Amino acid sequence: MTAVAERLSAIDAAIADAARRAGRDPAEITRIVVTKFHPAALVSELYGLGVREVGENRQQELSAKAEALAELDDLRWHFIGQAQTNKAGAIRRAAQAVHSVDRLRIAEALDRAATDDLLLDVLLQINLTDDPGRGGVAPTELERLAEQVLALPTLRLRGVMAVAPLDEDPAAAFARVHESAQRLRAVAPGAEWISAGMTGDFAEAIAAGATHLRIGSAITGPRPAQG
Ligand SMILES: *Cc1c(COP(=O)(O)O)cnc(C)c1O
Repeated sequence: MTAVAERLSAIDAAIADAARRAGRDPAEITRIVVTKFHPAALVSELYGLGVREVGENRQQELSAKAEALAELDDLRWHFIGQAQTNKAGAIRRAAQAVHSVDRLRIAEALDRAATDDLLLDVLLQINLTDDPGRGGVAPTELERLAEQVLALPTLRLRGVMAVAPLDEDPAAAFARVHESAQRLRAVAPGAEWISAGMTGDFAEAIAAGATHLRIGSAITGPRPAQG
Protein backbone atom coordinates (compact mmCIF):
# COMPACT_ATOMS: atom_id res chain seq x y z
CA MET A 1 0.00 0.00 0.00
CA THR A 2 1.24 3.49 -0.76
CA ALA A 3 1.37 6.13 1.97
CA VAL A 4 -1.61 7.89 0.41
CA ALA A 5 -3.63 4.67 0.33
CA GLU A 6 -2.81 4.03 3.98
CA ARG A 7 -3.78 7.54 5.04
CA LEU A 8 -7.01 7.39 3.02
CA SER A 9 -8.09 4.15 4.60
CA ALA A 10 -7.14 5.34 8.10
CA ILE A 11 -9.22 8.49 7.64
CA ASP A 12 -12.15 6.56 6.26
CA ALA A 13 -12.02 4.28 9.29
CA ALA A 14 -11.92 7.31 11.59
CA ILE A 15 -14.90 8.86 9.75
CA ALA A 16 -16.89 5.64 10.12
CA ASP A 17 -15.99 5.52 13.79
CA ALA A 18 -17.03 9.11 14.43
CA ALA A 19 -20.28 8.49 12.57
CA ARG A 20 -21.12 5.46 14.66
CA ARG A 21 -20.31 7.32 17.85
CA ALA A 22 -22.73 10.03 16.71
CA GLY A 23 -25.40 7.43 15.93
CA ARG A 24 -25.12 8.15 12.21
CA ASP A 25 -24.74 5.94 9.15
CA PRO A 26 -21.27 6.50 7.62
CA ALA A 27 -22.85 6.05 4.19
CA GLU A 28 -24.64 9.39 4.52
CA ILE A 29 -21.32 11.24 4.78
CA THR A 30 -19.35 12.29 1.68
CA ARG A 31 -15.61 12.65 2.09
CA ILE A 32 -14.14 15.24 -0.27
CA VAL A 33 -10.37 15.06 -0.61
CA VAL A 34 -8.86 18.55 -0.78
CA THR A 35 -5.94 18.32 -3.21
CA LYS A 36 -4.84 21.96 -3.31
CA PHE A 37 -1.12 22.51 -3.90
CA HIS A 38 -0.69 18.88 -4.94
CA PRO A 39 -0.17 17.84 -8.57
CA ALA A 40 -2.79 16.29 -10.81
CA ALA A 41 -0.82 13.03 -10.52
CA LEU A 42 -1.89 12.80 -6.89
CA VAL A 43 -5.52 13.25 -7.90
CA SER A 44 -5.05 10.40 -10.39
CA GLU A 45 -3.62 8.22 -7.67
CA LEU A 46 -6.59 9.03 -5.43
CA TYR A 47 -8.94 8.22 -8.29
CA GLY A 48 -7.27 4.82 -8.58
CA LEU A 49 -8.08 4.31 -4.89
CA GLY A 50 -11.75 5.03 -5.50
CA VAL A 51 -11.91 8.73 -4.68
CA ARG A 52 -14.51 10.54 -6.80
CA GLU A 53 -14.99 13.84 -4.90
CA VAL A 54 -12.08 16.29 -4.79
CA GLY A 55 -11.81 19.90 -3.64
CA GLU A 56 -9.73 22.87 -4.74
CA ASN A 57 -9.63 26.39 -3.35
CA ARG A 58 -8.02 28.33 -6.21
CA GLN A 59 -9.59 28.73 -9.62
CA GLN A 60 -6.42 28.44 -11.69
CA GLU A 61 -5.38 25.26 -9.98
CA LEU A 62 -8.88 23.85 -10.24
CA SER A 63 -9.08 24.63 -13.97
CA ALA A 64 -5.63 23.20 -14.73
CA LYS A 65 -6.22 19.94 -12.88
CA ALA A 66 -9.77 19.46 -14.12
CA GLU A 67 -8.52 19.91 -17.67
CA ALA A 68 -5.53 17.60 -17.18
CA LEU A 69 -7.83 14.90 -15.79
CA ALA A 70 -10.83 15.48 -18.06
CA GLU A 71 -10.89 11.81 -19.10
CA LEU A 72 -11.83 10.85 -15.52
CA ASP A 73 -15.35 11.95 -16.24
CA ASP A 74 -16.98 10.72 -13.03
CA LEU A 75 -14.59 12.75 -10.91
CA ARG A 76 -16.50 15.57 -9.17
CA TRP A 77 -14.68 18.83 -8.49
CA HIS A 78 -15.76 20.96 -5.53
CA PHE A 79 -14.65 24.58 -5.45
CA ILE A 80 -14.14 25.58 -1.81
CA GLY A 81 -12.15 28.82 -1.99
CA GLN A 82 -13.12 32.47 -2.15
CA ALA A 83 -14.69 33.00 -5.53
CA GLN A 84 -14.07 36.12 -7.59
CA THR A 85 -16.81 37.29 -9.90
CA ASN A 86 -14.52 37.51 -12.92
CA LYS A 87 -13.51 33.86 -12.40
CA ALA A 88 -17.07 32.57 -12.20
CA GLY A 89 -17.10 31.24 -15.77
CA ALA A 90 -13.87 29.31 -15.31
CA ILE A 91 -15.07 27.93 -11.98
CA ARG A 92 -18.34 26.82 -13.48
CA ARG A 93 -16.63 25.10 -16.43
CA ALA A 94 -14.40 23.09 -14.10
CA ALA A 95 -16.47 22.40 -10.97
CA GLN A 96 -19.68 20.52 -10.30
CA ALA A 97 -20.20 22.16 -6.92
CA VAL A 98 -19.26 25.54 -5.43
CA HIS A 99 -19.22 25.62 -1.60
CA SER A 100 -18.26 29.25 -1.19
CA VAL A 101 -21.19 31.32 -2.43
CA ASP A 102 -21.41 34.19 0.04
CA ARG A 103 -22.96 37.10 -1.83
CA LEU A 104 -25.49 37.72 -4.53
CA ARG A 105 -22.94 38.99 -7.04
CA ILE A 106 -21.00 35.74 -7.17
CA ALA A 107 -24.22 33.70 -7.35
CA GLU A 108 -25.42 35.81 -10.27
CA ALA A 109 -22.09 35.49 -12.05
CA LEU A 110 -22.13 31.71 -11.65
CA ASP A 111 -25.69 31.62 -12.93
CA ARG A 112 -24.89 33.76 -15.98
CA ALA A 113 -21.91 31.51 -16.77
CA ALA A 114 -24.11 28.48 -17.50
CA THR A 115 -23.42 27.02 -20.94
CA ASP A 116 -25.54 23.88 -20.81
CA ASP A 117 -28.62 22.49 -19.05
CA LEU A 118 -26.74 21.06 -16.10
CA LEU A 119 -27.51 22.70 -12.78
CA LEU A 120 -24.56 23.78 -10.64
CA ASP A 121 -24.68 22.65 -7.02
CA VAL A 122 -24.03 25.58 -4.70
CA LEU A 123 -23.68 25.97 -0.95
CA LEU A 124 -23.86 29.16 1.05
CA GLN A 125 -20.72 29.75 3.05
CA ILE A 126 -21.37 31.09 6.54
CA ASN A 127 -18.86 33.35 8.24
CA LEU A 128 -18.48 32.08 11.81
CA THR A 129 -16.10 34.86 12.84
CA ASP A 130 -16.76 38.49 13.73
CA ASP A 131 -14.42 39.58 10.93
CA PRO A 132 -16.46 40.61 7.89
CA GLY A 133 -13.25 40.31 5.81
CA ARG A 134 -13.41 36.53 6.13
CA GLY A 135 -15.28 34.62 3.47
CA GLY A 136 -18.90 33.86 4.15
CA VAL A 137 -22.25 35.50 4.65
CA ALA A 138 -23.16 36.74 8.12
CA PRO A 139 -25.53 34.20 9.72
CA THR A 140 -28.21 36.89 10.00
CA GLU A 141 -28.13 37.39 6.20
CA LEU A 142 -28.41 33.71 5.36
CA GLU A 143 -32.12 33.48 4.56
CA ARG A 144 -32.06 36.60 2.44
CA LEU A 145 -29.18 35.31 0.33
CA ALA A 146 -30.89 31.91 0.09
CA GLU A 147 -34.02 33.46 -1.34
CA GLN A 148 -31.96 35.35 -3.92
CA VAL A 149 -30.06 32.22 -4.92
CA LEU A 150 -33.28 30.21 -5.19
CA ALA A 151 -34.42 32.65 -7.87
CA LEU A 152 -31.41 31.87 -10.10
CA PRO A 153 -32.52 29.16 -12.50
CA THR A 154 -29.23 27.37 -13.23
CA LEU A 155 -28.11 26.95 -9.62
CA ARG A 156 -29.27 24.20 -7.27
CA LEU A 157 -29.03 25.36 -3.67
CA ARG A 158 -27.68 22.40 -1.69
CA GLY A 159 -26.89 23.67 1.77
CA VAL A 160 -24.36 25.48 3.93
CA MET A 161 -20.59 25.43 4.26
CA ALA A 162 -18.37 26.71 7.06
CA VAL A 163 -14.85 26.68 8.40
CA ALA A 164 -14.53 26.59 12.18
CA PRO A 165 -12.64 29.64 13.54
CA LEU A 166 -9.22 28.85 15.01
CA ASP A 167 -10.08 30.50 18.32
CA GLU A 168 -13.33 28.69 19.04
CA ASP A 169 -14.11 25.16 20.15
CA PRO A 170 -15.09 23.41 16.90
CA ALA A 171 -18.06 21.68 18.54
CA ALA A 172 -19.52 25.06 19.48
CA ALA A 173 -18.82 26.48 16.03
CA PHE A 174 -20.42 23.52 14.28
CA ALA A 175 -23.47 23.74 16.55
CA ARG A 176 -23.98 27.20 15.09
CA VAL A 177 -23.60 25.78 11.58
CA HIS A 178 -26.23 23.18 12.37
CA GLU A 179 -28.59 25.89 13.56
CA SER A 180 -27.98 27.87 10.36
CA ALA A 181 -28.60 24.74 8.28
CA GLN A 182 -31.99 24.34 9.93
CA ARG A 183 -32.90 27.95 9.18
CA LEU A 184 -31.83 27.44 5.57
CA ARG A 185 -34.03 24.35 5.23
CA ALA A 186 -37.02 26.38 6.35
CA VAL A 187 -36.68 28.49 3.18
CA ALA A 188 -35.09 25.84 0.93
CA PRO A 189 -36.36 22.42 1.98
CA GLY A 190 -34.09 20.53 -0.45
CA ALA A 191 -30.91 22.19 0.80
CA GLU A 192 -29.69 19.49 3.17
CA TRP A 193 -25.94 19.49 2.75
CA ILE A 194 -23.70 20.64 5.58
CA SER A 195 -20.12 21.02 4.37
CA ALA A 196 -18.00 21.20 7.51
CA GLY A 197 -15.02 19.45 9.01
CA MET A 198 -11.38 19.34 7.95
CA THR A 199 -8.34 17.34 9.07
CA GLY A 200 -8.38 18.75 12.60
CA ASP A 201 -12.09 18.79 13.35
CA PHE A 202 -14.02 16.30 11.23
CA ALA A 203 -15.17 14.21 14.19
CA GLU A 204 -16.81 17.28 15.78
CA ALA A 205 -18.36 18.16 12.43
CA ILE A 206 -19.82 14.67 12.07
CA ALA A 207 -21.28 14.91 15.56
CA ALA A 208 -22.94 18.19 14.50
CA GLY A 209 -24.52 16.68 11.39
CA ALA A 210 -21.96 17.38 8.63
CA THR A 211 -22.84 15.61 5.38
CA HIS A 212 -19.72 16.68 3.45
CA LEU A 213 -16.23 16.69 4.95
CA ARG A 214 -13.37 18.55 3.26
CA ILE A 215 -10.21 16.72 4.27
CA GLY A 216 -6.81 17.64 2.88
CA SER A 217 -3.52 17.08 4.64
CA ALA A 218 -4.55 14.02 6.67
CA ILE A 219 -4.96 12.20 3.34
CA THR A 220 -2.61 13.94 0.93
CA GLY A 221 0.22 14.48 3.38
CA PRO A 222 1.69 17.89 4.08
CA ARG A 223 1.09 20.45 1.38
CA PRO A 224 4.10 21.39 -0.76
CA ALA A 225 5.25 25.01 -0.35
CA GLN A 226 2.56 27.40 -1.56
CA GLY A 227 3.30 28.80 -4.98
C1 LIG B 1 -7.50 23.51 2.70
C2 LIG B 1 -8.93 23.49 3.05
C3 LIG B 1 -9.51 22.36 3.67
C4 LIG B 1 -8.70 21.14 4.06
O1 LIG B 1 -7.83 21.44 5.10
P1 LIG B 1 -6.99 20.32 5.88
O2 LIG B 1 -6.75 20.91 7.21
O3 LIG B 1 -5.75 20.10 5.09
O4 LIG B 1 -7.82 19.09 5.96
C5 LIG B 1 -10.86 22.40 3.93
N1 LIG B 1 -11.62 23.47 3.61
C6 LIG B 1 -11.11 24.57 3.02
C7 LIG B 1 -12.01 25.71 2.72
C8 LIG B 1 -9.75 24.61 2.72
O5 LIG B 1 -9.25 25.70 2.14
